[in-house]
Amino acid sequence: MNIPNTLEGARTADQADPLASYRDQFLFPQNQAEKVLYFTGNSLGLQAKRAKTILLEELDDWARWGVDGHLEAERPWLSYHENFSASLAQIVGAKPEEVVAMNGLTTNLHLLMVSFYQPKGKRTKILCEGKAFPSDQYALKSQLRFHGLDPKEHLIEIMPDPETELIEEDRIVEAIDAHKDELALVMIGGVNYYTGQWFDMQRITDAGKRAGAIVGWDLAHAAGNVPLELHKWNVDFAAWCGYKYLNSGPGGVSGVFIHEKHHGQSAIPRFEGWWGHDKEERFKMPEDFVPIPTAEAWQLSNAPVFSMAPLLASLELFDEIGMPVLRNKSLTLTAYLQQVIEDAARESGQPIRIITPTEAKKRGCQISISVPGKGKAVFQKLSAAGVIADWREPDVIRLAPVPLYNSYEDVYQFGQLLTQYLKD
Ligand SMILES: *Cc1c(COP(=O)(O)O)cnc(C)c1O
Repeated sequence: MNIPNTLEGARTADQADPLASYRDQFLFPQNQAEKVLYFTGNSLGLQAKRAKTILLEELDDWARWGVDGHLEAERPWLSYHENFSASLAQIVGAKPEEVVAMNGLTTNLHLLMVSFYQPKGKRTKILCEGKAFPSDQYALKSQLRFHGLDPKEHLIEIMPDPETELIEEDRIVEAIDAHKDELALVMIGGVNYYTGQWFDMQRITDAGKRAGAIVGWDLAHAAGNVPLELHKWNVDFAAWCGYKYLNSGPGGVSGVFIHEKHHGQSAIPRFEGWWGHDKEERFKMPEDFVPIPTAEAWQLSNAPVFSMAPLLASLELFDEIGMPVLRNKSLTLTAYLQQVIEDAARESGQPIRIITPTEAKKRGCQISISVPGKGKAVFQKLSAAGVIADWREPDVIRLAPVPLYNSYEDVYQFGQLLTQYLKD
């Protein structure tokens, strides 16, 4: 589909967009400027209007029932986490019993590594992408040190190409093959937070499995953004945050995937808590832990109902739409953003480097750009005009047109502002 870079072209595309009405289900920030163009759903997704209703329902049930709300609430708190499993399973391509909503992302990465990073003999090393999100680096390095291993020796980082800032999959696969006798774990971000690069997860998972390693993915920027088939790809584990593309709200609950082949295995070490214990017996408080034979076995505590409630509102919309339809819009909307950026560069005579791969299968809905020499000034003007985007040192602007609530007109308006500020 070729959408003209005109107001009329954008509006026509919005009229033809089957998801256009979902924009009205979300609250856009109002206070910074009259008209806000929101392109940071990759950092903090917007609030679904129904989030407040659901949250208030939980508060009302607490007022009405007190402790009895565990069983009597409209959505009983005892099994609250179960409300998320079917939707999350659809989003990441899993069976419902392979996913569970719990904790925060970094907490979950640690819990999963406790189970799935088991250095033994020569197999001690972890392979990850270079320049990973800092929290992931801290998690990986501290796991190594926890096992008495020096990260300098046991963490293999595949660095991006200094020119393109991207990491070629060939380099990752070659490194996996080269270290195949020493690898305990391959853990990579499915979509890179900085460049927006989406890796061929199936190919890398296959390579890791061939090498005899465990393969885990951080899907912070992938869940709800790109289509995933974690079960089919034979991924061992994954975790993601709920507050980016899934709109669970600040600090909202994370999700994890654990392949069913690892369920009910008593040999897998695990940090245990009562919410992972057999549901029938939980309140008999037996001394010995009997794991639930699903991903729920990794839960520690009872569900934080109020911080989970907003996610339900957003997942209802994901259920209605489905990832394939969302991805279809994402492809055209993201391509439109690329076109608008290229037009702005051409019209202003100011070169822009698009860091994100331009191939659709190598990216989700984020585009990272660098405006040599002028980036900060342009970003500040955009911000003052009500464009909410993300700045990363030294000179990168990250933009995410989110198919669930961004419009073609948003993108068009952004292009107009960008062209103007590039010329200034
Ligand atoms: C956003 C993000 C995080 C954030 O971690 P929290 O534990 O949710 O604070 C971690 N890793 C990656 C790759 C991210 O993109």
